[in-house]
Amino acid sequence: MIHFDNSYARLPQGFFTRTAPTPVAAPRLIALNRPLAERLGLDADWLDSPEGVQMLAGNALPEGAEPIAQAYAGHQFGGFSPQLGDGRAVLLGEVVAPDGARFDIQLKGAGPTPFSRRGDGRAWLGPVLREYLVSEFMSAFGIPTTRALAAVVTGETVIRETLLPGAVLTRVAASHIRVGTFEFYAARGDRDRLQLLADHVIARHYPQARSAADLLQCVVDAQARTIAGWMGLGFIHGVMNTDNMSVSGETIDYGPCAFMDGYRPDQVFSSIDAQGRYAWDQQPNIAVWNLAQLASCLVPLMGNDDAAVAEATRIVHSFPEIYQREWLRVFGAKLGINAPEPQDRALIERLLAVMAAERADFTRVFSGLSDGTARDEFTDPAAYDTWARDWQGRIAELPEAAALMARANPRRIPRNHRIEEAIVKARDEGDFTLFHRLDDALRAPFDDRPEWADLAQAPLPDQIVHRTFC
Ligand code: AMP
Ligand code: MG
Ligand code: MG
Repeated sequence: MIHFDNSYARLPQGFFTRTAPTPVAAPRLIALNRPLAERLGLDADWLDSPEGVQMLAGNALPEGAEPIAQAYAGHQFGGFSPQLGDGRAVLLGEVVAPDGARFDIQLKGAGPTPFSRRGDGRAWLGPVLREYLVSEFMSAFGIPTTRALAAVVTGETVIRETLLPGAVLTRVAASHIRVGTFEFYAARGDRDRLQLLADHVIARHYPQARSAADLLQCVVDAQARTIAGWMGLGFIHGVMNTDNMSVSGETIDYGPCAFMDGYRPDQVFSSIDAQGRYAWDQQPNIAVWNLAQLASCLVPLMGNDDAAVAEATRIVHSFPEIYQREWLRVFGAKLGINAPEPQDRALIERLLAVMAAERADFTRVFSGLSDGTARDEFTDPAAYDTWARDWQGRIAELPEAAALMARANPRRIPRNHRIEEAIVKARDEGDFTLFHRLDDALRAPFDDRPEWADLAQAPLPDQIVHRTFC
């Protein structure tokens, strides 16, 4: 039993099409996220039952579900596509958790929809496992993100470069409303639906907002925080198209995303990002670009005159200052500095420059600050030693530094080679033990169990993953 309350499906015609998931041949549960089920107020034992698995595969609709595919548009690599939409995801409905928070329950890979264009509406196992692991790690670490309630294999194959096992991810999100959802109506000059959408988003995510301008400011704030969080983990989203930017501020659409091993500011992994548009160090700039698209959409709701344009511009231009403040807080904590001063920026940047010179391992340098092993990450530690003396001086009088650093610098991240290894094992042997081990270890990023020590290692040269695929 799930108590649905489907506010998006109550919006008028034009926001979505009603589309049921397409049943699959032989669903089998790979993973069920029991803590998340509990957080949502769902019965985990039922989800784990044959009946529950039928629902998680899209073979059976629970009572109260109103499956829809949402319409949206989006700028993809800078070019506008007026018509995208859920091409392989079906929103079953929304649940209200015991604490009153509302969540979308969506099946990703649930079969074709009217928005599928030439796609098959399906997902293969690899990206489903990656999204499950990475989104749950992000959540465990405290970065706003969509989450993974379950993953099932379908018992069917999907055709990519080769035949691959199909899978369905149950994705949970505060909502799936994107910058691209606003662009869909703005591009059509549909002011009425734009207003309805803005009202819906305000009621759902930002009840404190009194106007479209307030809404824009709330999204700017939320995105600045989220992206500063990504930067602190060496996370590269990979496809920051406007249709992959949630207005709630949650990280959404884990495609060719990856965490860097060796520190390199212009790192790119995605095979489709030839120009490096979405490189690690470009992410805050791209966020501003995307938010400028949202601002353009909202101008018609802000008076649609020069004053509205000026205000929208001012709000978008508030991003850098908010982001810089968040960045300083995130990286200050990584160095054990609780209330960083503007001059601490230089200390942080000096360490990053020392790391970049050797492409030192991003995660291991920061986690090694706590136990003195950071120095071991450098072949020539002289520059590090000089920096470390200044840093020691800075934190000498800060009693909370050690505790702060322990929470800010995970020892284990979802390393690309580990995820790859787990996917290959599952794909080729139907063996999910590596996946489950990673899932357990990543859910507890600050728990230093000796049996997980190998997961804190950097890849050997021949293990490094250079390219990721959607
Ligand atoms: P993404 O790059 O994952 O953000 O996807 C961009 C667009 O392509 C979205 O509208 C997706 O719904 C759609 N899409 C991606 N993969 C498929 C697929 N296998 N079948 C149908 N549509 C897809
Ligand atoms: Mg997408
Ligand atoms: Mg995607």
